[in-house]
Amino acid sequence: MRFTKHKRHRKIVRFYTACFGFREPFKVLCDGTFVHHLVSNHLSPDTSVSNALGASVQLFTSKCVIEELKSLGSSHAQSFHAARKDFKLARCEHEEKESAFNCMIEIIGENNPEHFFVATQDMDLRKKCRKIPGVPVLFGLRNAVFVEQLPSFQREYVKAAEERRLHMTDSEQKLLQKRVKSILNAEELKDSSNAEEEIDEEDLRGQVIASREPRKTDAKDKVQFKRKKAKGPNPLSCKKKTTSSSAPNAGKADKTSSDAKRSRPRKRKRSRTDKSSSRTDGASA
Ligand SMILES: [Zn+2]
Repeated sequence: MRFTKHKRHRKIVRFYTACFGFREPFKVLCDGTFVHHLVSNHLSPDTSVSNALGASVQLFTSKCVIEELKSLGSSHAQSFHAARKDFKLARCEHEEKESAFNCMIEIIGENNPEHFFVATQDMDLRKKCRKIPGVPVLFGLRNAVFVEQLPSFQREYVKAAEERRLHMTDSEQKLLQKRVKSILNAEELKDSSNAEEEIDEEDLRGQVIASREPRKTDAKDKVQFKRKKAKGPNPLSCKKKTTSSSAPNAGKADKTSSDAKRSRPRKRKRSRTDKSSSRTDGASA
């Protein structure tokens, strides 16, 4: 039971992170009924909510909620103190005391830009939140906190938003057509001014098509040029440089394989000079 509950909660949280951009630590806006439920069940607000969401959380309430708890008197005194002490204040614009219900709805707004989870025991508020896009709802049941099942409204809203993103609007389509027309006209004008006399209309059409194709090849050329750059012309030239630079330095000290090629003519030269020297030596002696 417990495992399936966590799995279900994780799935819902993932939906809101993926589709509405919720991010940890999750902000949870709590009303007086929820705070009172936690307090009367001896639940630690922070741990019980973060356990339910399986993530770190920041708990919020509002000035109007605290005022309402205060007005409920001694029966809600403990909840009032907990709300004032342990919860952050979400900003609301109410100068005078507003009902907690209206205050919560106004903080959430039309599409919950602050990405609040709403935590409440109030059935009317829960129903209302189901109809606002991107508002997940938490509620307490006995000694645990639950995430309300994903309403079909939220799923449909996300689907519709995705559809809107995939398809062009009428105005966008008109704009695109206009743009394409102007580009084609400009290209045709260019071609006619470049090669006026010799080409008849059929050739001109061919040129228009051809002039569109080079665009693609231009792009390819650019990519190829980049690739050449990435591979780099250096390795070969560098190797030559290192061998040529190292050869004269190391030529005297090292007898490498490159010396083996040169050894033949050198030997010949030496042998000639040796013979000649020996001859001259012999002649002189
Ligand atoms: Zn308020």
